[in-house]
Amino acid sequence: MSDSPALSVPSLAARDLAVVWHPCTQMHDHETIPMLAIERAEGAWLYAADGRRYLDAVSSWWTNVFGHRHPRIVAGLKDQLDRLDHIMLAGMTHEPAVALAEKLVDRAPSGLTRVFYADNGSSAIEVALKMSFHYWRNQGWPERNRFIALRGGYHGETLGALSVTDVPLYRATYAPLLFEPILATSPDAYQRPAGSTPQQHAASCLADMRRTLEECAARVCAVVLEPLVQCAGGMRMHHADYVAGLRRLCDEFGVHLIADEIAVGFGRTGTLFACEQAAISPDFLCLSKGLTGGTLPLSAVLTTEAVHAAFYASYSTGKAFLHSHSYTGNALACRAALETLAIFDDEPVLARNKVLAEHLRTRLRALEDHPNVADIRQTGMIAAIELVRDRESRAPFPADERRGLRVYLHGLSRGVILRPLGNVVYFMPPYCVDTDDIDLMVDAAIAGIDHAVA
Ligand SMILES: *Cc1c(COP(=O)(O)O)cnc(C)c1O
Repeated sequence: MSDSPALSVPSLAARDLAVVWHPCTQMHDHETIPMLAIERAEGAWLYAADGRRYLDAVSSWWTNVFGHRHPRIVAGLKDQLDRLDHIMLAGMTHEPAVALAEKLVDRAPSGLTRVFYADNGSSAIEVALKMSFHYWRNQGWPERNRFIALRGGYHGETLGALSVTDVPLYRATYAPLLFEPILATSPDAYQRPAGSTPQQHAASCLADMRRTLEECAARVCAVVLEPLVQCAGGMRMHHADYVAGLRRLCDEFGVHLIADEIAVGFGRTGTLFACEQAAISPDFLCLSKGLTGGTLPLSAVLTTEAVHAAFYASYSTGKAFLHSHSYTGNALACRAALETLAIFDDEPVLARNKVLAEHLRTRLRALEDHPNVADIRQTGMIAAIELVRDRESRAPFPADERRGLRVYLHGLSRGVILRPLGNVVYFMPPYCVDTDDIDLMVDAAIAGIDHAVA
């Protein structure tokens, strides 16, 4: 942050604040909150211009899975750059796009045989929503134009993805521009009635979903779900029974299931894909974030042969899916994704994560009786702590007190990047962390929480 008065060369942070408008940020905050100028990253660590280093406990917005600059991905990208950078994906193809599609079909839940590329998570959701709607239209059901979304769900911030998002912080302002989804109860286990289990809560939410479908299935294209963890909505977790039951209901009522694994895919929940834990295949599987190991923007929507077949006809029928993004199937990004999947194949990533997740679980027990902690929850390599004003009543802290922000600032002072979602402090570290790194993260969070609630 400090400029050198002798040379009067403005710091990177000062230059930034003069021209860059940051995402998800009230820029005014930076009158008091430091802008971190990062010069270099290695593994789980970010190295700042001021000589300090920070542990990236949130995987750079959940994108980074193996740590920064994994040698295999770096080597793959350098090699790819020497062959082919980017071409349009209409009328032509390239090895990384084909090989990646083959590999994704091979690794994803069964029945997903067709891969449509886009270049970020929100765009993948737009693709899935449009494809589902268009499928029904092509099949002679143009009156199907509604989507069922879950309360507390998050699917991105372009207008279609934001329409099926139920996080007021992101959605409320733009509501006049959005279409209205049919909102269903969230199976979030934290919100279950006292005395019931997460499994019972899942069953009761499925009963609600059945009533909704009985009423409106004939007008519904698809149900959209973040399987196992509603991430941006506050790391809200549910029982895998809900995912399995929802699949059965979608089949029974003849509507599509869109699984948004943009955040939970690529090992975050303990399995490569979260849907595996419910032993189901969705009709659309949306992937992004960890897909390239956190190096380049890319997304993919996997779908079924049945969906693909509904678009496959002579051009004059007007049935084609004429959606495109300029950087669809970018060769560098596809190559990074191929290396990412190869690392899952060749290294015992998920087995090692199990050990790390257990260590994290054990360390978080220290907060079990904390007067301001109402819930500690974990699914695989995602763990979250619910901060409240009062543990017994679960009364939340007023949002404008920004307790989470205090945890963030305290984390920085200890060299750890935590970025709480409101009053939910969470960990979603890259898989290259060791138990010492986890100890550092947890110690910083505990100290930050004590500081923030004081
Ligand atoms: C991040 C996220 C998105 C949006 O992805 P972007 O690349 O940020 O547009 C969609 N769904 C979920 C579950 C996400 O976590």
